[in-house]
Amino acid sequence: MKKAKQSIRCNYCGEVFGKIAIKRHLENCNVRKEQNPPGRELYYCIQVKGLYRKEYCMYLDASANASLKDLDQFLRDKWLECCGHLSMFSIGGETYDSHPDPYLMYERNRDMKAKLKDVLSEGLEFMYEYDFGSTTELVLKVLSVSLGVKRKERVVLMARNLPPVFACVECGEPATQVCAECSYEELALYCDECCKEHECGEDMMLPVVNSPRMGVCAYCGEDD
Ligand SMILES: [Zn+2]
Ligand SMILES: [Zn+2]
Ligand SMILES: [Zn+2]
Ligand SMILES: [Zn+2]
Repeated sequence: MKKAKQSIRCNYCGEVFGKIAIKRHLENCNVRKEQNPPGRELYYCIQVKGLYRKEYCMYLDASANASLKDLDQFLRDKWLECCGHLSMFSIGGETYDSHPDPYLMYERNRDMKAKLKDVLSEGLEFMYEYDFGSTTELVLKVLSVSLGVKRKERVVLMARNLPPVFACVECGEPATQVCAECSYEELALYCDECCKEHECGEDMMLPVVNSPRMGVCAYCGEDD
């Protein structure tokens, strides 16, 4: 499989940057500065990447008053949600579950009500898992902390990778479908024509989408 292109687009000004440059850009983007005048509310700049599919990345601006539940919902909406699976954050040796086991409540299994300001700090790296069967694992990092005016949205998408372009494994044309059955070790990608010939049948095909959960379970991309 060809290595996916690693370009990240700033959501404010639309310009595309490399992995290192985007971090500095987000702090200096003039369009972002205009939309986010200085204020007294605390915000975290959080980088999210697929643990095994690092070409997928997002840069989020999350209010310190947002909860882990808000962050969970954002990740589900943009990247993950297929059938309402369970999810979990692992932060500094603690776990925070979307559906905690009531019998373990006072041992380890916490829910996601905690506010970000109570669990995150600058430089902290933490993990997230969606679906404990066909798990999609993400690694998150608090890149910086800043002050801004109060706003309604708790989590805002600042930047995201451009959709990688994949080639059909049969003919080399741009792939549009991925076989969920064959995609365990390597993605089995096909164009619209070749997927009709594929032995697993068209029922097993999922659309090529811009997410580290592409080709997994029943994931069909974000609905908007
Ligand atoms: Zn920008
Ligand atoms: Zn599912
Ligand atoms: Zn093809
Ligand atoms: Zn297949």
